[in-house]
Amino acid sequence: MFMKNTKNLYRLVIKYGQKCLLLATMGILLLALISCGDNKGGGYGSASGESFEWKMVTTWPKDFPGLGTGANNLAEVIEKMSGGRLTVKVYGAGELVGAFESFDAVSRGTAEMGHGAAYYWKGKAPAAQFFAAVPFGLTAQEMNGWIYHGGGLELWERVYNDFNLVPLAAGNTGVQMGGWFTKEIKSIADLKGLKMRIPGLGGEVLNRLGGEQISLPGGEIFAALELGTIDATEWVGPYNDLAFGFYKAAKFYYYPGWHEPGTTLETFVNKEALAALPEDLQSIVRIAAQAANMDMLADFTARNNQALNTLINEHNVQLRRFPNDVLKEFARVTEEILKEESLRDELSKEIYDSFITFRKQADTWHEISELAYLNARKNNLK
Ligand code: CA
Repeated sequence: MFMKNTKNLYRLVIKYGQKCLLLATMGILLLALISCGDNKGGGYGSASGESFEWKMVTTWPKDFPGLGTGANNLAEVIEKMSGGRLTVKVYGAGELVGAFESFDAVSRGTAEMGHGAAYYWKGKAPAAQFFAAVPFGLTAQEMNGWIYHGGGLELWERVYNDFNLVPLAAGNTGVQMGGWFTKEIKSIADLKGLKMRIPGLGGEVLNRLGGEQISLPGGEIFAALELGTIDATEWVGPYNDLAFGFYKAAKFYYYPGWHEPGTTLETFVNKEALAALPEDLQSIVRIAAQAANMDMLADFTARNNQALNTLINEHNVQLRRFPNDVLKEFARVTEEILKEESLRDELSKEIYDSFITFRKQADTWHEISELAYLNARKNNLK
């Protein structure tokens, strides 16, 4: 039975390509989980015919490329994997609740799940920021290593437990861009008085260097930049930024995204709602989130460079690299802030220690693997 299913799944893979490979792999995993459950005398509740209708509130405009579509993808995968026993209706920001109300809405059960980025909740849980993006922190590959196999997820669960939520990684943007500026940044002095939309710890770095951090959900940034309410903004990278049209309001596009080197997007699930599902549906929610996590990174990786070409060649965007001394200051202040964050409470210290230890290990290993390879490829191919 298992072999036959596997064969059929691989036939589908050949027919429909990569997306199916993902679904097929997840199918095999689920079959394995279900058969293990049977061997132990049941307990996975796969026979339950009960169906569930969930709502997902998101911090993104509805269907927004990359992020909103990532949330849609998660809902679709859950529905397909469950054979329709668990359906998830996705709401864009403002449709059911405002972008930044999503966390509370799921916490109190207005919706069963949400889709966002953990640094949006820093006002409620400062330690949450470590699970989205840390300036000079982990890349996408490293974040996944830390979350899934480095103790990160367990720490994240402890932070969200106080809010009646279960967090899961559900997407990653890869390295972001440094942002859109109406004037050039040639030295630290150019940051003085600069009003920039930038979330999380990166925003705190800007504050300490004389700038002003502004928090705005995605849907409100363009108007603020065009009106001059803000002087600069970061969002994600070329694929997303092109869709928002920031090039119409600011000409200078800076790299690298020192403040968000591999931002993890999240889904947060109401604890009781998750516990009320039969165990096979709970597994589906978890595995679908892993699949969505990988798919979003693949989406960004496939589309960013095309979008960058369009920005440069069709919209005359000026690409700029942050000067070294500016990056050095960003790094110095980041380390100062991270140390302070670690002193907030015991759990923050534990998260900081775990994160910094993982970063050191990743840094050492990647010096002779990812970094060495990318340099070798760049320097030796004609
Ligand atoms: Ca960003």
